[in-house]
Amino acid sequence: MDPGKACHEPKDNLFVSSSLKETANGSIHAPRCFTANGRYSGGVITDLVQIRMLGEKKRGENERFRRHLKSRDHSDRILRKLAEQVEDAIDCTACANCCRVATVKLSERDIERLSGSMRIKRVQFLKQFTTETVDEGIILARTEAGCTFLDGNTCLIYEDRPDICQRFPHVVRGEGSILSRMWEFVDRACYCPIVYNSLEAFKEETKFRT
Ligand code: SF4
Ligand code: SF4
Repeated sequence: MDPGKACHEPKDNLFVSSSLKETANGSIHAPRCFTANGRYSGGVITDLVQIRMLGEKKRGENERFRRHLKSRDHSDRILRKLAEQVEDAIDCTACANCCRVATVKLSERDIERLSGSMRIKRVQFLKQFTTETVDEGIILARTEAGCTFLDGNTCLIYEDRPDICQRFPHVVRGEGSILSRMWEFVDRACYCPIVYNSLEAFKEETKFRT
């Protein structure tokens, strides 16, 4: 959840609209964007309709890939490096899909920081900008368009945004190894271009047979 960086230049030249091929058994072949040695080679899929379609189609494959990673040695450093290259190739300000789709759980630190920067009392902040859920506790309020602080593709509280937004989608920035966070990525691959393309790069790097 990283939209709102006005300093981000759009990187349209890197956006590859891919011609996807579906095989007789229903699996999907998307063009590879990375060379055999894992170097970024010039294109990622960012079209959100394609990401949704591919992410859903590859749910089973991505679950298998998670088990594949668990059962083999791999370098977390190399996977992280690949994910960094994917992140560098994607402009979150042109996407903002996570802010539309995902809920944002708040920590006490987030609540203190945000109410402080807005110069309002904690209780007022909670009343005006949050809602409480059984599953997640206190989350940012949402409208039909997504997060209450999303304006178009811009985060209105970017400098003070919650910790979870700062680290999203938690591929490059997250606690523990990438493998320990893989369980989160199958769902996220259905709406986040960074996650979808990172998983594809990881599969190539680890020679996963799709
Ligand atoms: S969904 Fe992923 S690519 Fe899109 S803005 Fe969020 S983190 Fe960035
Ligand atoms: S606070 Fe809302 S708009 Fe800002 S980054 Fe987080 S989810 Fe997106």
